[in-house]
Parts: sequence; C-alpha cells; structure tokens
Amino acid sequence: MRDVVIIGSGCAGNTAAIYAARANLEPLVVQGHEAGGQLSLTTLVENFPGFPDGINGPDLVENMKKQAQNFGAEFLHGSLLEADLSKRPFRLNVEGDWMETRTLIVASGASARWLGLPNEHKLIGHGVSSCATCDGFFYRGRKIMVIGGGDSAMEEANFLSRFGSEVSVVHRRDQFRASKIMLDRAHANPKIKFLTNTIVEDIFDVSNNLVSGVRLKNVETGAVWEQEVDGFFVAIGHIPNTAVFKGQIETDADGYILSKGGARTNIPGVFHAGDVQDSTYRQAITASGAGCMAALEAERFLEAEGH
Ligand code: NAP
Repeated sequence: MRDVVIIGSGCAGNTAAIYAARANLEPLVVQGHEAGGQLSLTTLVENFPGFPDGINGPDLVENMKKQAQNFGAEFLHGSLLEADLSKRPFRLNVEGDWMETRTLIVASGASARWLGLPNEHKLIGHGVSSCATCDGFFYRGRKIMVIGGGDSAMEEANFLSRFGSEVSVVHRRDQFRASKIMLDRAHANPKIKFLTNTIVEDIFDVSNNLVSGVRLKNVETGAVWEQEVDGFFVAIGHIPNTAVFKGQIETDADGYILSKGGARTNIPGVFHAGDVQDSTYRQAITASGAGCMAALEAERFLEAEGH
C-alpha cells in the first residue's frame, strides 16, 4: 500500500515527488509514455526562475527527478492502464500490475494534437513529426513546413530555421494566438514564410513511406496547390491525458480536469497538477507550482485521515 502515487514525470509530477518525498511519504512516480514530460522535448528554457542564462529543458527535468530521488521518491517506467477510484484505497493497474494507494496525484500532462489527415499518421516518423527538437536535425538543408498559429508553431519554426533551407508556417486563419514577441521573431526570420488562411488537405507520399509534399488550400480564395516538403511539423496544441480516468475524474469538454479548488478533483484523495488541468498558463513554473500544491494537499489529506 502506497501513501502517494504520482502519475506523470514532467515538472508537475517531479515537483510533487520532491515535496511528497521530503514529507517522508515515499511517493511512487509512474513516469508515463513521455517520461520527463514536455520539457524533455524542448531546448533552452529561459523563463524558469533561478537560471539567469537559461537551462536545457531535459536537464531541468532530470535535475528535478534526481532531487526527488535524493529524498526517496521511486520512479517506475511505464504507464497507468486502468484506475479504480470508486473507493479508497484506490486501485491502479500499471503495466499489468495492480497496486493500491491512499492518495493519487494526476500529473499526466497533455499530448500533441494531430491534424487527423489519413496520411499524417502513416507518415509519423517518416517526415511527419510533432517535435522539432527531436527531429529537426534530420532536415538539414531541406524544405520544412510547420502547422499552427500559436507560440509552439513560432518556437518550432524559429528553431527549425537553423536546419532547413526554408520554413513555411501554415496557419488556418490570419489572426495568430502566438504572443507578439514570438510572432515578431518569426516574422523577422528571413528563412520563415507565412501561408495564412491556409489548410493542409493531404500529405504525400505514403507509397514511398516518406514525406515529399502536401496539398494546400486557401480557405479565402479556394485556391488549391501542391508544395514540396521534406519535414512536416504539426504544432497545433495538446490534448490532456485523462482518458484512463474517464467517467471517474470530472473534466471539461476538452478533457482537462475540473479543479474543485486548490489541487482537488471531484474525488477526495485524488489531486491534479500541471497541464492535465491547466489549459491556460501551461508553463514549466506553473506546473511545478501545481505539483507542490498537490503534494501539500495529499500530505494534509493523509494527516487528516490519521496516516
Ligand atoms: P495554442 O496556443 O492552442 O495554438 C494552437 C494553434 O494551432 C492555433 O493557432 C490553432 O488555430 C491551431 N490549430 C488547432 N487545431 C488545428 C487544426 N485542427 N488544424 C489547423 N490548425 C489548428 O497551442 P500552442 O501553440 O501549443 O501553445 C500552448 C500554450 O503553451 C500557450 O499558452 C503558449 O503561450 C504556451 N507556449 C509558450 C511558449 C514560450 O513562451 N516559449 C512556447 C510554446 C508554447 P486557431 O488559432 O485558428 O484556433
């Protein structure tokens, strides 16, 4: 029987682990299918307080993990497959093994959203990617396309311009969600070209198992054309990882956990932390803060229950 199990090992999960471990609760962290969370897919993080020269995302999250381990947190490879939260202790199926826990911290984050085109999925890993940091290197001197109009798309386009001969940003509207500073940076980059009011209709070439081009459509004029592309990067936001809790933990229509105040969910003893609940701020520092809150609430919950 565990006192605290934490689902997810990004900033939220790791910070919860640091706090819970320092409170002698010996937390178990189920790392999930994207160990380290989104920071493990980024490069330089310039806005996490305490690092005046910035720090690499993977280093930051690995440091957090080590810090938690130093206080006795245990980390488990694998994902949560099933959860029975109908009564306490909660029962969790992690990679086929059932375990019990008095409290649960859900810090499972949010995963990349895809366009949903039939050929998109077939070409993931063969020219289609959701992670510029992971795959940008493969497109040195090649033609790159980035889909999206948010900060992620601008960040990826800027990063990919180090590698590609050209980077086309394709956005379905002509208004951008991206912050002004990120948008200005992309506009000032001579390698980046913008295609607005434009959607992707298809990606080629599945028969060669490699991206070679796309069919685009201007939604204003109706014009349809094809463009050569080698690397196709999708940066259109994220989907919260709450499917495994469906019907148990209350979420909003998009699947983000509904907070019942502080880090509380609708189930006493189950707490939320990070992007799985927060569709507004979604920053490393806010996720870490949320992880801290969840661990403190779990600690108080256990204390009130006499554990
Ligand atoms: P986002 O802000 O939600 O933007 C998603 C973009 O994808 C929007 O432009 C949206 O278009 C487009 N989109 C969504 N679904 C689409 C579809 N099916 N087809 C075509 N386009 C689609 O997501 P994000 O850029 O990932 O950013 C998420 C959060 O992280 C934001 O708060 C952002 O500020 C933050 N962030 C910050 C940094 C940084 O500061 N360094 C870097 C990355 C992200 P519409 O606008 O038309 O809906």
